[in-house]
Amino acid sequence: MSEKVHCLIIGSGPAGYTAAIYAARAGMKPVLYQGIQPGGQLTITTEVENYPGYPEGIQGPEMMVDFENQAKKMGTDIRYGLATKVDFTGPVHKVQVDEKDWIEADTVIISTGASAKWLNIESEQRLNGYGVSACAVCDGFFFRGKEVAIVGAGDTACEEAVYLSKLASNVHMIVRKGEDGMRASKVMQDRVKNTPNITIYWDSETDEVLGDTKVEAVRIKNIKTGALQQIPVSAFFVAIGHKPNSDIFKEFIDMDEAGYIKTIPGSSKTNVPGVFAAGDVQDKIYRQAVTAAGSGCMAALDAERYLTEQGLA
Ligand SMILES: Cc1cc2nc3c(=O)[nH]c(=O)nc-3n(C[C@H](O)[C@H](O)[C@H](O)COP(=O)(O)OP(=O)(O)OC[C@H]3O[C@@H](n4cnc5c(N)ncnc54)[C@H](O)[C@@H]3O)c2cc1C
Repeated sequence: MSEKVHCLIIGSGPAGYTAAIYAARAGMKPVLYQGIQPGGQLTITTEVENYPGYPEGIQGPEMMVDFENQAKKMGTDIRYGLATKVDFTGPVHKVQVDEKDWIEADTVIISTGASAKWLNIESEQRLNGYGVSACAVCDGFFFRGKEVAIVGAGDTACEEAVYLSKLASNVHMIVRKGEDGMRASKVMQDRVKNTPNITIYWDSETDEVLGDTKVEAVRIKNIKTGALQQIPVSAFFVAIGHKPNSDIFKEFIDMDEAGYIKTIPGSSKTNVPGVFAAGDVQDKIYRQAVTAAGSGCMAALDAERYLTEQGLA
């Protein structure tokens, strides 16, 4: 016989742990599966300065241990394991863990996050957290008054370049395509082009991020001519997109073309009654720990109401 729970939370980032705190305090006895990255994306960063409640800032991994401890203290059953398959056809939702056991749940909260896409060059991985970042809003502040580089050509890259231009002395934007091949909307392209301290390098790719212990420069290569150019910078931002961790839900849950889960505006409800989504897996706009935590709270409250309405509480 498979295990049956009131509330199953998939994912252990700020969204999942916040949902767990609220669900546990509401008496829903939540079970939370952590996935392969217990603590989520913040465990791969260093200083977090913008999460309220930590006036001196805090290391990302340490903050996520605080989240975990709080969820545990409230009574969440936290387990190491990966959701590998789901079946959301019936009123009781089925989730398979580690390709073995099936768990039945009255409510499921999906908080599996999104992963930043990387260029996958060695120096980018080695200097990740030491000047290399996939989040301008998170880390731009640390490079106030400095020269920074950003790679990407979509709307998000343009937005982040403009955001950085207000903090950094100069923003060097590396774009693979030529001027007529940029993916971003015309409005965003114009905004970038009209910002005096953004320099765009067309037809260029990143050859190497340079620096022993922190970013000191980026070497770019002109794709057309093969010419190499070294630009001294203190930070290197990668803005080439994110991939929501939503593949296993595809058959049942409505998503946009990029795989972000669609929720009913103003709620965490998905198209399947009793299944809710929170955090970066359903948010391609804000992607911050505090917004993920906020939507985790919404998901737990929505799940609690669902259980009451269905007479399952
Ligand atoms: C380098 C970096 C620095 C950042 N700095 C900041 C910052 O300073 N301030 C800020 O506010 N935000 C920052 N962010 C953004 C922030 O980390 C995210 O917005 C936030 O973590 C999203 O939370 P989440 O709970 O939605 O998902 P995530 O934190 O991505 O967590 C997803 C969780 O789901 C689990 N999971 C995935 N698939 C499965 C599965 N199949 N089964 C079980 N579990 C699964 C993973 O193991 C993980 O625990 C940063 C991000 C990065 C990458």
